[in-house]
Amino acid sequence: MNRRVFLHPRVALVAATMSAAVLSGIVTAQQAPPQQPNFDAINVRSFKVQDNVYMLAGAGGNVTMQFGNDGVLVVDTQFAQMADKLLAEIARLSGNKPIRYVINTHVHPDHVGGNERFRRAGRAIVAGNVAGDVRGNEGATVIAHETVAARMSQQDGTTPPAPGGAIPTETFFGESDEVFFNGEAVRLIHQPAAHTDGDVMVFFRKSDVIATGDVYVNTSYPVIDTARGGTINGIIAGLNRIIEITVPRDKQEGGTMVIPGHGRIADEADVVEYRDMVTIIRDRVRDMMKKGMTLQQIKAAGPTSDYDGRYGATSGFWTTDNFVEAVYRTLGGK
Ligand SMILES: [Zn+2]
Ligand SMILES: [Zn+2]
Repeated sequence: MNRRVFLHPRVALVAATMSAAVLSGIVTAQQAPPQQPNFDAINVRSFKVQDNVYMLAGAGGNVTMQFGNDGVLVVDTQFAQMADKLLAEIARLSGNKPIRYVINTHVHPDHVGGNERFRRAGRAIVAGNVAGDVRGNEGATVIAHETVAARMSQQDGTTPPAPGGAIPTETFFGESDEVFFNGEAVRLIHQPAAHTDGDVMVFFRKSDVIATGDVYVNTSYPVIDTARGGTINGIIAGLNRIIEITVPRDKQEGGTMVIPGHGRIADEADVVEYRDMVTIIRDRVRDMMKKGMTLQQIKAAGPTSDYDGRYGATSGFWTTDNFVEAVYRTLGGK
């Protein structure tokens, strides 16, 4: 286990943060404000996935919860504005058990926005050999890949530093980490350079459920945050990793269930179909690049056209054009 207590580098970063904030002010002025969901109108819906693992949908990324005698483990926290509704539903489903762990799949605000509320609502396990004891019982233990905590601690593009209470309390920097909780091994799998540079997928080994974060979504083409280290080849490697881990559903037995970052609960067959689609588009763009076509020519040639009906978008924050451009750029296109 490569986990360590995260030391907030806030003080050392003050100077760097200030100059980044000035730069970011210029960038922000040129961009349209991001769309904010109407939080008051959105209710939390929960779905039993398998055993004591549930998926909660509201605004932002899907939330996964696993619960039992040890308490509750939560993957992702949506937006801060959803925290009251999510915490109420988690308390209802678990019978008011304390939240012990929060795991963040990546840095985006629709997945970490509720961190502070969730942490304060919870209680770390202080007995036994669980890491984090040295911090005392300040709330739930919040675990993420180290790049997530580092990015949240400082100005990150147009995103301001997160309040100290929202920043993960423990980070890991290797390929994987694990937590044993409620009689179940929970594996945290780092997928390098996929949706971002800090993606973690969470595999509940006994319940046979994997929460993928935004490495896999089934509502759109893959979102590739190129400013934060995302790449098309990392996305495809991540989808292949999910397919390696999952076991298909048998006629009698349930197979591995997949909770995507956004969208509906899926299984291996859904991920295979999606992986094939993304791989075909990547290969088409790569072939067009080899022929010397420019980004404009590639977009005009419509390398996604047969899939646009299901996954495409011409407006919103992640259009088909955004996707094709991210594929092109992360394959080395200029
Ligand atoms: Zn997301
Ligand atoms: Zn994301």
